[in-house]
Formats: sequence, C-alpha cells, structure tokens
Amino acid sequence: MDERALYHRQSSVKPPVASRVIFTDLDGSLLDHDTYSYEVALPLVKRLDRADIPLVFCSSKTRAEQEVYRRKLKVASPFIVENGGAIFIGQGYFPFPFECQRVTKGYQVIELARPYSEIRRILEEIRLKNGLDFRGYGDMAAAEIAHLTGLDLASARLAQKREYQETLNLTGSEEQIQFVLTKIKEAGLNVSRGGRFYGVMAGSDKGRAVTILTELFRRKLGPIETIGIGDSLNDVPMLAKVDIPVLVKKPGNYWEEIELPNLYRIDSVGPQGWVKAVAELTGI
Ligand SMILES: [Mg+2]
Repeated sequence: MDERALYHRQSSVKPPVASRVIFTDLDGSLLDHDTYSYEVALPLVKRLDRADIPLVFCSSKTRAEQEVYRRKLKVASPFIVENGGAIFIGQGYFPFPFECQRVTKGYQVIELARPYSEIRRILEEIRLKNGLDFRGYGDMAAAEIAHLTGLDLASARLAQKREYQETLNLTGSEEQIQFVLTKIKEAGLNVSRGGRFYGVMAGSDKGRAVTILTELFRRKLGPIETIGIGDSLNDVPMLAKVDIPVLVKKPGNYWEEIELPNLYRIDSVGPQGWVKAVAELTGI
C-alpha cells in the first residue's frame, strides 16, 4: 500500500471517544431548591439513559430519599449518599469484584464515613461540655423538618433515616454559629455547608466517594470523562475531583463563592442551569 493511502486510512480512524459519567448534586442542582421538582430536567435525564451516560446522584440526601428519585427518574446508576457517607451500587452493576463493606437489599455498599450513632454521641458530648443547645435532624420531629425544609411529611421521615451524617440547623448570631462549628471541628468531625443546613460527619466527603466511584467506572468503561454539577459549598470536594466541574446559580440568581480551576459557571439557576450544562457538555 502506498504511503498516501495508508495515511488516509489512519486519519479516518477516529480516536476512541471517552465515555462520560455525570456526578450530580440533587437539592438546588437537579432538583429545584424550593419545590424539589425535577420536571425541568426529566426529558434530559431520559436522553442520558438512552445514550448510556451514567447519572450518579451525589447528595446530602439519605439512601431512602434518593431511592424515591431513582424510581421516579428511572436512574439505575450507583449513588452517593449523605455527602459521601457511602456509595450504594446495584449488585452486578460492575461486572468484577471490588471491596465493599456490606451487601444489603440488592446493593453492594462501600462505606466511607463513621456511623451516624457515633456522630450523634460526639455532638451530644459537645453540647453538654459547652452548654450549647444546637439541634439536628435526630433531635427533631418529622413535622419540624418538614416545616424547615418545605418537604412533605413522608419525605421528611425519609430524610431522618440517616446512617452517616447529621444535619444541623444552626441558629443565632454569626459568632455563636462559628463557636459551635469550631467545637465540632475540634472534636475531629468535618462540617460542610449545604443549601440550608450544616452537614456533620467523620471520615469522608463527596470528593472521596467520587474518586472511588470514578476508578470503578474506569475499570468498567475504559477512559472516561467525568462531569460534576453542584450549587453549594458542600459540592466543592466533588467538583474538585471531576474533569469538568460545573456550578449552577442559586435562587436569587447568584453563584456560591467557589474558586476552582476550570470551574464552569452556568448562567442559570438550579435545574435550568443543570439542563443547559448537560445538554451543552454531552451534546445530547
Ligand atoms: Mg445543593
């Protein structure tokens, strides 16, 4: 074969296209901050499924809460619960063995954070030792959580089914809040700020879970390009670990103050921004 023909043949062979995997926050990103509606994003979620692009929920929500959205949106990908507390993977989703801590209700579970009961115990010690009276989901009735969050009562009950992270509603002056946060950090717990509340846990964050899951996807799919979409400070660890970090606006039409290299700021709020970003970055 002459050289020109060979060149022609080679140049017509496209380089392999990396598979994409999307990691997404839920509240204020895929879901509307106030109504928790996903209607805006639904058509695109369906297109992602048809295009075989995994959509991985990576949220402070509990397993019980995320299962509702997995059912409604027909999403079968692995998911990251409670800000990186654990990764839940449908049995057989990855066709090879990997390390997991337990198998329950059809999931292989990679547990990353300390158990919720331990976090509650440490928080109680902090309260007693410092004469503080801050409260978390574990101290509230479901009706109070519903009132504070706008969730309906049934959803508030699912939000209470916590396994790793406590959610605190800190009130008072900025100084009082900072004092509580300092004491929590001194006790070796980490704190992250979500849309409404503070998440307290030990041993993990969204970024750690994203890194582990990305590695599993690489083993399954080969080269991949990861996209991460969030709206709040608790998304920073996730956004720092993906190839393309995307920030959508918050209600009030502003971006959370986040500095990251290559951060792609989408000029729309919540799910509207989510749709713009996903459509543009995946071309579907
Ligand atoms: Mg959020």
